[in-house]
Amino acid sequence: MRCPFCGADDTKVIDSRLANEGAAVRRRRECLTCAERFTTFETAELVMPRIVKRDGSRVPFDEEKLRAGMLRALEKRPVPTEKVDDAINHIKHRLSTSGDREVKSRVLGEWVMDELRQLDQVAYVRFASVYRSFQDVNAFREEIERLEQETPPPERR
Ligand SMILES: [Zn+2]
Repeated sequence: MRCPFCGADDTKVIDSRLANEGAAVRRRRECLTCAERFTTFETAELVMPRIVKRDGSRVPFDEEKLRAGMLRALEKRPVPTEKVDDAINHIKHRLSTSGDREVKSRVLGEWVMDELRQLDQVAYVRFASVYRSFQDVNAFREEIERLEQETPPPERR
């Protein structure tokens, strides 16, 4: 890390300890060129992109809202809670690694559908029917038929 005093590239860590109850690492560094000392903090960066809704408004990603929507689709379905947690973690991972500062709610919805489809077909259709707000009964039927023709996706490892 570059020295903030003289700009030299070589600094060495002389002390390293946990801070903020383990959420950060505080490092004391010394410049090998000018011998000045300074402190750096290291924290995990988990910046979630904001969600762009259909009407163009931007809202922060809301994990509880996501979970509630998925659980509604999964109501009375034989899917273990830990599988739902895994699915939510997959979605969060996709969000945090998308590299985008904003993600359209439509895209987020497609990701939820990807997960539900692997968890439970009934939940998937429930969610999709609400989410895609099928224009008419025919569009909904086509989706069901498409599902029936598809081979099941491979199991996640
Ligand atoms: Zn220096």
